[in-house]
Amino acid sequence: MTSQSIRIAVLHFSHETVTFLKNDTTIDDFIYPGSPARGEALLQFDPKSYMGGFVKMAREFDGVELVGIESPWWPKTSIGSGWVTNEAFETFTGRMIAELEASGPFDGVYLCLHGAMAVRGVARPEAELARRVRDVVGRKAFIAATFDLHGNEDEEFLKQADMAFAVKYFPHYDGYLQGERAARTLVRAIRGDYKPTSTTVKVPIISPTVLQWTGASPWMDLVQRALTWEAREPDLYVNVFFGFPFADVPDVGMTIQAMTNGNPELASQVARDIAETAWRQREALLNSTEVHSISEGVALAKQAVQRRETPVVLADHSDRSGSATWLLKEIIAQDLSNTLIATITDAATTARLKAQGAKAGDAFDMEVGGLVDESAGTPVRIQGTILKAVEAYGQFWVSIRFGRDNVLILSTYLVQIMEPFSLQHMDIDIGAFRVTAIKSRVHFRRGFHDNGFARTILLVEPPEPFLGTVRLNGLTKFYPYGNPAFPE
Ligand SMILES: [Zn+2]
Repeated sequence: MTSQSIRIAVLHFSHETVTFLKNDTTIDDFIYPGSPARGEALLQFDPKSYMGGFVKMAREFDGVELVGIESPWWPKTSIGSGWVTNEAFETFTGRMIAELEASGPFDGVYLCLHGAMAVRGVARPEAELARRVRDVVGRKAFIAATFDLHGNEDEEFLKQADMAFAVKYFPHYDGYLQGERAARTLVRAIRGDYKPTSTTVKVPIISPTVLQWTGASPWMDLVQRALTWEAREPDLYVNVFFGFPFADVPDVGMTIQAMTNGNPELASQVARDIAETAWRQREALLNSTEVHSISEGVALAKQAVQRRETPVVLADHSDRSGSATWLLKEIIAQDLSNTLIATITDAATTARLKAQGAKAGDAFDMEVGGLVDESAGTPVRIQGTILKAVEAYGQFWVSIRFGRDNVLILSTYLVQIMEPFSLQHMDIDIGAFRVTAIKSRVHFRRGFHDNGFARTILLVEPPEPFLGTVRLNGLTKFYPYGNPAFPE
């Protein structure tokens, strides 16, 4: 059996959809140089994350053939776009299924997913993709998937697929590891050495993503509990989906999956243990990170500069479009100096600057940002000098010096700064600024916190109950916005 060759199809379809954003995610958003990709180009797309780990491990086995089915990569809007159109989902899924039919048979399928894709007219897109794949490959084949812990999933996914492996850390450090685990377990299942048996439990907790940092308790303890279970029970895999709250989908919220090698009692015991642990700690889970108002946060940043506790990071975690100007306004109002604002998303202004042939040394006097919806606020007039204007990573970037040694960066799409080196294409050294104001919730901690770069980190949000804030008060079916009963 082990000497027989194994054929595995590899597919990718991912998005984290904020269904409340006004710009839908369209077919065009998924099409750009490099996407869609197929064959080796798909397999080599993301060597340090899920795909890379899967491919590396799968190829350590003799006789495994990987077939990269044409798949779109993330849309160029990244996480800054709303509902995926039905047309986009049907188009790409249709092509995947047709290619799967034409190039089969397959012993296994790897689905490289995120889990929080939301599609108009398709209630559970990841489960629906798995269902269609199952129709082609049949019940004898095995389907394994990797997920981001922000996935909104319920029991439907593992009814259609056999295995799921979600990252445990936020920031998501272990994508590569989960890819490796998916490959090894998939090959073992195909060879008859692993019999996937799983339990899924929904927990009625919904949490704003800014609070889900696994560097703080009790999120850290929840991860540790899952790791402890995995360490003591061979062949057990535990997924703790924190869920993605900014999506109007039926499977929103926290989900626990436990997967065993043919042991349904153990799967059920572990899934319930993790779910009940999360429920017991629900109050602390929702209070693990302090979030300041923007005016308070900027004032605290100023004090930190006076105490020389720099660099300071001011992170507006709530901005889902990238266009929000609340923090920029307050930085100007409180007259911060030596401050980098990265970025304000403004597709129209960057397009205009590109058309005008904007270049270093040009005087700049324009209104920037705001307007895309009420949570973005109003435009802000900036008068200064252009430092650099450049096309990079599929968008147009402009840096402007203004005020007292401040620099503002404009971008076409939402940009989440996660690493101090990520603005090298703008000749910007983030370490040279006393304060950096970014749009990120938790991912930035990889490059600013977990590596010791920043001395002061301040999370902020505007006081209004906008999309993206921690005030999801309408969601009364979930703790902490309502008082649901759990466990049943
Ligand atoms: Zn995530």
